Amino acid sequence: MAKFSINLKDGSVKQEEEKDIIVGIDLGTTNSLVAYINEGQPEILRTPTASKALVPSIVHFDESGSVVVGDAAKEMLISAPERTIYSVKRLLGKSYTDISEIKDLLGYTIIDEDEDTLVKIKVGDRYYSPIELSAEILRELKRVAESRLEAKIEKAVITVPAYFNDSQRQATRDAGKLAGLDVLRIVNEPTAASLAYGIGTSREQAETIAVYDLGGGTFDISILEIQDGIFEVLATNGDTFLGGDDFDRAIIDYWMETYSIPAQLLEDKAFGQMIRLQAEEAKKTLSSSSEYSFSFENQEFSITKETFESIISPLVDKTLEICRRCIEDADIELSSIDQVVMVGGSTRVPLVKEVVAKLFKKEVNDTIDPDQVVALGAAVQADILAGNRKDMLLLDITPLSLGIETMGGLMDTIIPRNSKVPAKAGRQYTTSVDGQTKLKVAVYQGERDLVKDNRKLGEFVLSGIPPMAAGMPKIDIKFILDADGILRVKASETRSNVQTEVQIKSQYGISEEEMALMLKDSLVNAQQDMDQRALIEAQNEGKNVALHSEKFIEQNAAILSSEEVKTLKSHIGTLRSQIESGTKDDINGAMDALNAYSTPLAQRALDHNIAVALKGKDL
Ligand code: AMP
Repeated sequence: MAKFSINLKDGSVKQEEEKDIIVGIDLGTTNSLVAYINEGQPEILRTPTASKALVPSIVHFDESGSVVVGDAAKEMLISAPERTIYSVKRLLGKSYTDISEIKDLLGYTIIDEDEDTLVKIKVGDRYYSPIELSAEILRELKRVAESRLEAKIEKAVITVPAYFNDSQRQATRDAGKLAGLDVLRIVNEPTAASLAYGIGTSREQAETIAVYDLGGGTFDISILEIQDGIFEVLATNGDTFLGGDDFDRAIIDYWMETYSIPAQLLEDKAFGQMIRLQAEEAKKTLSSSSEYSFSFENQEFSITKETFESIISPLVDKTLEICRRCIEDADIELSSIDQVVMVGGSTRVPLVKEVVAKLFKKEVNDTIDPDQVVALGAAVQADILAGNRKDMLLLDITPLSLGIETMGGLMDTIIPRNSKVPAKAGRQYTTSVDGQTKLKVAVYQGERDLVKDNRKLGEFVLSGIPPMAAGMPKIDIKFILDADGILRVKASETRSNVQTEVQIKSQYGISEEEMALMLKDSLVNAQQDMDQRALIEAQNEGKNVALHSEKFIEQNAAILSSEEVKTLKSHIGTLRSQIESGTKDDINGAMDALNAYSTPLAQRALDHNIAVALKGKDL
């Protein structure tokens, strides 16, 4: 939105420079919010017609593939669970192995052929990554902000839990990019909550803060130390399945027992839904009243605040135990904690506030709406980045991502843009051909998914790798970026200790304009880049699966029937032709089919091999 000013004396019209608005986004497991700074004060954004500022983090795809997000998607949770994706934040940046414990709790289908690659979600015959799904939620928030502010929004700060690892942070960043947002900074949720309270906004202050975050389904405690405007996470702990939903369940259990209601009645959709809603209502009411009651089919249900507190007390105690452990991990005395900040809807329960205040022996910060505090703090961080708060120290950051070329010409980012400098990061790679003794390491800078669209900074060769089967060598690549922007890249094969190192001046020759252009390109081409990356990744994965399946046939010829070999070969043939000319969904579909057919055969081969190994041995 451009602004014009008219000089009334000479009638000249001048276009005023207007700064882009940077929004702060809390991308939550259950709900998400967007905020901005309005005349110096953080404010939550909602569409003029919305009754609530919270956008449920739920994405629904209808039969035709069109998508709805938020409240409209939430309504579809019960009638179309297979097509309605919730809790996607729990899957972000994770592999199938990482989520093996939770996959059965979700109502939709999670797919992976290879345990170490990132998960995909199957809806109908399409496959979505958690990044694409998170991008849908971010797109909705962008729409909310744009409609409310009547301006184009292209820049954002997004919050993540303090315990998010590099892969989860990178995935959040990618989701932002896919939604058409330049993500200026990924901020820890407890840091944002502290900023909303104005803690750490002055340079002199050195403080230790505990942030207690109890939401609907998760609990997090973080201990931060702030000095010279730098927030350091000393320790973090939590329980990914503990929250207000458990309080609701405790109330339901209490009613079922008190009024001798048979457990199977809960399976009845209407009764189950009714009692769940009443339990949540009771919990919320008891935050400000001493009793709650209602009647249903001539049965009076009630619960007092006293009873409520006694039934949730074991759950609340569990959070305190986790807090104590976190303080221990932070290696500090409880008395050195200066502030306690409350985050998450469930901290509205008075008992929670009381016991937390008692544990930390001080009053808690609870004056800001605990559902909004993280998004409001993200807006404060956005304002700092916009240069509107001169008192805040800004850390030096790398302006563009640094990474290396991997299979298929993909850019693998090792140090993401906007990382604090100095920075150090690394990743492990391996070879793709049997007996490979050399590995070329090509270093690139930029935000595009394919290296050909980024700027090449240099390349070197790690040689002398002892010949091994493909996938056996362990090659560590480390990026060390010093405070002057000088990058050193080290490569070493850990089994044989072969190593080499080069120094690269990372920003050499890039002007501000070029940098801005590179960033703009990455946003404009985000969708195309993501599609191309997804296709190349599916092709790489498909090639691996085909290769393994061929090896499997070779090694197990003795126990496979000719019919089985024929079917396997035909599946491999289909997969190979899809790799050549199919879409990512075609390739994934072919991998699924091959996998479904070969899994029982692999099990049989395993049983057979064990039987052979045991033959002749006494058990
Ligand atoms: P969040 O995940 O932070 O959005 O927290 C949502 C949780 O807070 C849900 O379990 C809500 O039932 C709970 N909640 C919301 N309002 C209240 C309230 N007034 N008293 C107690 N719990 C509440």
